[in-house]
Amino acid sequence: MRPATEYEPILVDVALGARRYDIVIGRGLLAELGTLVAARRPRAAVALVTDATVASHHLGAAHAALAAAGVAVTPVVIAPGESSKSWDGLKQVCESLLAARIERGDLVVALGGGVVGDLAGFAAAVVRRGIDVVQVPTTLLAQVDSSVGGKTGINSVHGKNLIGAFHQPILVIADSGLLDTLPVRHFRAGYAEVVKYGLINDAAFFSWLESNWHDVFAGTAAREHAIAKSCRAKAAIVSRDERETGERALLNLGHTFGHALEAGSGYSDRLLHGEAVAIGSSLAFAFSARLGLLPPGEALRVDRHLAAVGLPTKPSAIPGGVPGADALMDLMAQDKKVKRGALTFILARGIGDSFVAPGIDPAEVRAFLVEKLAER
Ligand code: NAD
Repeated sequence: MRPATEYEPILVDVALGARRYDIVIGRGLLAELGTLVAARRPRAAVALVTDATVASHHLGAAHAALAAAGVAVTPVVIAPGESSKSWDGLKQVCESLLAARIERGDLVVALGGGVVGDLAGFAAAVVRRGIDVVQVPTTLLAQVDSSVGGKTGINSVHGKNLIGAFHQPILVIADSGLLDTLPVRHFRAGYAEVVKYGLINDAAFFSWLESNWHDVFAGTAAREHAIAKSCRAKAAIVSRDERETGERALLNLGHTFGHALEAGSGYSDRLLHGEAVAIGSSLAFAFSARLGLLPPGEALRVDRHLAAVGLPTKPSAIPGGVPGADALMDLMAQDKKVKRGALTFILARGIGDSFVAPGIDPAEVRAFLVEKLAER
């Protein structure tokens, strides 16, 4: 495939009525940031929120692109990492927006991964009772998942993402070239969310990934194709169920097991979110096979693809190990997907045929986990 250029961006529509917006995808789009922003909000000033690592690679170019279009910019730089998604991080961003005299009609631009997007998006939702936000995701995870759909927030001592708001962006700009500076481990982790869209409802996309993942990693036009496919899949689900009263829960495939493993490893560098989703997806398919919902060969095919790109598929792959089955059950019981003791899982009848399964018997899950934790 020929490399995509900045002249051929792909547009994805997030159809949310009065709150609809575009996702623009292409290599080199950061240079268009000022033009794209000024076209939507002439004369708006911008608070450009980013983290120190992203700033070292891309803040200069983002700032220059905005300035070239005559946009007044105040950079706000937070510390990299999950610990910024906190009350302290929120305070820093909110106070910086106010100090920069960002008004209701101005804009917050979130330039970074999911941490920056969630934090800056939440600050934008609450400062002056709501300022518009443009998401400029710089990780694969953020380009295919967190920048789309309007979930914003911070973590509490009681758990991840427990304080937040729905605040849809007015525009998402996914410059696939920004991913060239992303460490491959983070790229791979984001790729687990790409695979998830194939597993949920698009078997043809999963097959395409099996054949083309090398090009997605290498950064040819296959990368933009995979990002666009993922964004379209998420946009379609979000536009039908913005507030997760039903179908949006499908996006949690791999996340019930995954969140428990993430919590069990202390949300540390031992296990990135996407790596937890990879193990969680493998477990969701293996559990579906155990329940007789799908042939074991389907679960093996999922594992084979995840392993081919270098993603973990077993809890035993987590360095330092994880807590036992009972501790993981406790962690799952605190998940937002629990209703009166029964667990809700996303299970599958096949690749591309996932469904929401409420009322799963915890004893069955525990027995499955005991087996899986023993596997090397
Ligand atoms: P992240 O934002 O922490 O980014 C990962 C690391 O990569 C950071 O150290 C960052 O500084 C660095 N980085 C980012 N872009 C870079 C680039 N282009 N070049 C070099 N380094 C770069 O993590 P993430 O994986 O993007 O996001 C994880 C967060 O997203 C979690 O907090 C999770 O809860 C959240 N999330 C939110 C949603 C949602 O719907 N809102 C969905 C999924 C995940």
